[in-house]
Amino acid sequence: MLGRALSAIEIRNLQKCSCKCNHDCFNKLSFSKIRELRKNFWTQSKSVRKLLLKQYILNSVTEGRFKMFSVCSNTKLCSKAFLAVLRINKNTLTVVTKSLEYGHHAPQLTKSRCQGTLQLISWLEEFSSYNTDRMPDSLECFLPYGTKKMDVFNQFIFETNASIGKSTFFSVWGEYFPHLKIKQESTYTFKVQSLL
Ligand SMILES: [Zn+2]
Repeated sequence: MLGRALSAIEIRNLQKCSCKCNHDCFNKLSFSKIRELRKNFWTQSKSVRKLLLKQYILNSVTEGRFKMFSVCSNTKLCSKAFLAVLRINKNTLTVVTKSLEYGHHAPQLTKSRCQGTLQLISWLEEFSSYNTDRMPDSLECFLPYGTKKMDVFNQFIFETNASIGKSTFFSVWGEYFPHLKIKQESTYTFKVQSLL
């Protein structure tokens, strides 16, 4: 995906497109700026991309019939150009927009809060990839039986020194890692007992 997103031919072709908002959005960005925006977006993990998209949506403004997305200082793109420039499909944008409208959380991410959250998401992703068992036929990942969420929080703070509170930690876990769970019983103990 990243390779295609950064393809020079694709970016050149993109610059020849046109939009309907009368602001000629496809000509607002240079070749290298488009490449940079795509790279910053597509080198992130899926959950971070979702978070970035949420921020773009929260920062967008409506101008007449068009929703304008701010992609860098002083540059706003209509949704057609925004989607094409970042190479996002329309459906993804709709789904994330709906999740903000109907979700319990439409957090106004301040810059510092956002930095910490991104760091936490990356850390949790790495942590879960090293410490979980994935059940076949399931998207859920399980941390070992007896793991305490509070210990995971302490380990995060110890390793990163991030200034993130417990409540943010747990809400990010709940929002971005609903599939990351703690094994509820010790299979080993269970087997031993059933043999007795
Ligand atoms: Zn436009």
